[in-house]
Amino acid sequence: MERKFDKVVALAKARGFVFPSSEIYGGLGSINDYGPLGVELKNNIKKAWWDFMLSHRNIVGLDSGILMHPKIWEASGHVAGFSDPLVDCKKCKSRFRADHLLESLGIKPDFSPGSKIDMKKLACPECGGELTDIRQFNLMFKTFIGPVESEANQIYLRPETAQGIYVNFLNVKESMRLKVPFGIAQIGKAFRNEITPGNFIFRMREFEQMEMQYFVEEKESMQAFKDWRELRREWYLSLGMNEKNLRFREHESDELAHYAKAAIDIEYNFGFSENESFKELEGIHHRGTWDLSRHQEYSGQKLTVKDEENKDYLPTVVETSIGADRAFLAFMLEAYTEIEGGRSTTTESNKEKEVVLKLHPKLAPIKIAILPLSKKENLSAKAESVYAELSKHYRVQYDETGSIGKRYRRQDEIGTPYCLTVDFDTLENNKVTVRDRDTMKQDLVDIAELEAYFLEKFNF
Ligand code: ATP
Repeated sequence: MERKFDKVVALAKARGFVFPSSEIYGGLGSINDYGPLGVELKNNIKKAWWDFMLSHRNIVGLDSGILMHPKIWEASGHVAGFSDPLVDCKKCKSRFRADHLLESLGIKPDFSPGSKIDMKKLACPECGGELTDIRQFNLMFKTFIGPVESEANQIYLRPETAQGIYVNFLNVKESMRLKVPFGIAQIGKAFRNEITPGNFIFRMREFEQMEMQYFVEEKESMQAFKDWRELRREWYLSLGMNEKNLRFREHESDELAHYAKAAIDIEYNFGFSENESFKELEGIHHRGTWDLSRHQEYSGQKLTVKDEENKDYLPTVVETSIGADRAFLAFMLEAYTEIEGGRSTTTESNKEKEVVLKLHPKLAPIKIAILPLSKKENLSAKAESVYAELSKHYRVQYDETGSIGKRYRRQDEIGTPYCLTVDFDTLENNKVTVRDRDTMKQDLVDIAELEAYFLEKFNF
């Protein structure tokens, strides 16, 4: 049976959500482009996250550069340690992440000095060939700043957005007259030269992150960690995610970074394979004072703030970090619904399977479709005037080709919450029929009242 995941990938391409990058040149490993509907959905996800974060009184936004001073990545530990264990097949030259390879064989990866795991005893999953020893491979993309391609001018494309927040911590605090606790939110591109990217947009080499670093006093930090866990859970549920598809996996003590007090992965049931169902979608991390203390040390600049007794201290950081692309995939999978036998009443579609993308209306790329029943001039003119009015407020699609049943199904497949038909009665009574995607309930609405009608529908 075809997996839901494969069906969503096919739909995403066919209906203009996601295209493989540079396709006419054979593609480029694990980079994807968002099509006309994809960019709308992704923007809506980003906006929902941004509005949620900025609705907290003590959270402000930031948009820092992709290119930053190279010392930042020394301070953050990325130059020394942002690497994955890599093995090659000596025969077919395929490359694998050793930890992923072990996990797929049901072996817990352990690369500590006393580990009994010997990669050479394993065979290449592609051709059965012998594997090399593990090498550490740094995931940061390098480039040069300025006209001279020398080591002194080497810089990195950021592998995460968080560091831009840490290095602007004091600028933000002082310019906005903020007092701890406060948070800084940022959305932006990140780049990782992943060894084994894949699973569509789940793991890409260029992707987008939505990160929020919350600066808090140590004594209040565990409470903040718990609060953010709950707030993030509520965010997913408010956008229509089913709780049973989310899992909050607390990190074991041996998984935690030495400076971290606690960490949770919010996992989603992506269903890539039977033994690989739940995978990380978001991380919530208690990072102690690690990041600020490192930047203080490497930059030589004081990054402390004053407590009630006027003593200097470094705030503790609780971060929430989610991939916009992974969220996109999770919301698509969550919304994808097949209805066997169909639910339309038109004869041609009676026995077919119908696909409905039950996206939350806030996320749906197209909010309203306008479907004139016929292409006759007077109907088109009426429908076009409705389009002109509604498109001032909503993303609206106008479709007059094909049978009405087919047009409804096209809209259901891309998740449009409301379809509005203009028929010959409209010319008499100035009323249109509005059909709800999920309930199929139809309302007859006066054109003069459409604005108020949709204002109520999209009031969230
Ligand atoms: P993973 O273990 O899956 O590689 P990670 O723990 O390295 O993820 P973080 O560094 O915590 O991920 O990044 C925060 C979020 O950014 C992740 O939860 C994920 O949603 C997203 N993300 C990370 N790497 C990628 C990638 N290569 N492609 C798409 N999204 C990513």
